[in-house]
Amino acid sequence: MAPEKFNALVAEGSSSAYTVGWKQLTNDSLPAGEALVEVQYSSLNYKDGLGVTGRGSVIRKFPMVCGIDLAGRVIESASAEFRAGDEVLAVGQGLGESRWGGYSQRARVPADALLRIPSGLNAKRAMAIGTAGFTAMLSLMALEHNALRPGEKEVLVTGAGGGVGSIAVALLAARGYKVAASTGRAELHNYLRGLGASTIVDRSELAQKGRPLAPERWAGAIDSVGGQTLASVIAATAAYGAVAACGLAGGAEFTTSVFPFILRNVALLGINSVSTPKPVRVEAWDRLARELPLDKLHSLTAVEPLSKIQQLSEAILAGQIRGRVVIDVNG
Ligand code: NDP
Repeated sequence: MAPEKFNALVAEGSSSAYTVGWKQLTNDSLPAGEALVEVQYSSLNYKDGLGVTGRGSVIRKFPMVCGIDLAGRVIESASAEFRAGDEVLAVGQGLGESRWGGYSQRARVPADALLRIPSGLNAKRAMAIGTAGFTAMLSLMALEHNALRPGEKEVLVTGAGGGVGSIAVALLAARGYKVAASTGRAELHNYLRGLGASTIVDRSELAQKGRPLAPERWAGAIDSVGGQTLASVIAATAAYGAVAACGLAGGAEFTTSVFPFILRNVALLGINSVSTPKPVRVEAWDRLARELPLDKLHSLTAVEPLSKIQQLSEAILAGQIRGRVVIDVNG
C-alpha cells in the first residue's frame, strides 16, 4: 500500500536564497523525534511572516517546514511522557527555524519540545495564544518576578494591536493592572478598550527622541516594538519599575542613557520565548489557561486557512494584523 501523503509548506534552498512552496510528504520523510503528531492548528507570528517571505534570517536549516507553533493530537509516541490521543502543543523550541515546524498536517516532534495542552484550552485556543501569547505571559512573569504588582500607576503595552500586545493587554487587565495600550491604529481604540486598556497612547508619542529622564509615568511595560519606542518607555518608567523587552517590530537598535537605571533603579528585562526551559513553559501555559479570559481570547482571534499563508505573512510584516490569527492546517 502506498504511504499516506499530507501537505506541508516547505522552504528549500539556502539562507542566502530560498523558495517556499507546497510539498506532499509522507511519515517517512519526517525527521527523527519521539512523537508523531497530527497537526490541527498552527498560528501566525511576526517571525512566521519573516520566514515565509524570506525576510530576516529565521530559517537556519534547509529544507525546512515553516511554522513556529503547532497543536494537535499524538498519533504515536516513543516517549513515556505522551500517549496516542494526547492533545499537545509546541511553540518555539526551534520549530520552523532549526526543526521542522507546524505548517504541515503532520509533524514529528522531540518529546522535550512538546507540552500537554492544559485543561481549559484545546488545540484551537492554544494556537490563538501561540508564541505571541506565551511571550506576553513570559513578559508578565518577568515583571512580577521584579516585584510588579497591581497599583495606581499604569503598565504600558506597546504594539498593542498586534499578537503579543493584544494578549498582554488582556492578561494584565485580567490580573488587575491598570493598562495603557500604545497603538498606531486609531481604528483599534475600542478593540483595545474591550480587552481591558483604560488609556490609549498614540504610538507617535513614543517615536520621538525625548529627554533621558521623562516624568515617571509607567509602573512597568511590555514592549514588542523596540527602537526609539523602547528608549522612550525606559525614560518614562517609574522608580523601581521594569520594562520587558520582547520585540523589534519598530526596530532592533535603540539608544538610551544610564540615568533611568542608576537614578531610578529601572530594570530592563530580556524575553526569549524560543529556548524557555520546560518547567517554565509548563508554568506559563498553566497560567495562560487559568488567567486569560476566554471571551477576550475569542475577541482577539481570527481563524484562516493555511492556503492564505503567503498573503497573511505579508500582512503581519506590514503591521496590518489585529490580534492573533490561528492557522487551520487542513484549510
Ligand atoms: P504583530 O505584527 O502581531 O504585532 C506587532 C505590532 O507592533 C503591530 O501590530 C503594531 O501595533 C506595532 N508595529 C508594527 N510596526 C511598527 C513600527 N514600525 N513602529 C511602531 N510600532 C509598530 O507581531 P507579534 O505580536 O507576533 O510580534 C511582535 C514582536 O515581538 C515582533 O518583533 C516579534 O519578532 C517579537 N516577538 C519576540 C518573541 C521573543 O521570544 N522575544 C516572541 C514573539 C514575538 P499597532 O498597530 O497597535 O501600533
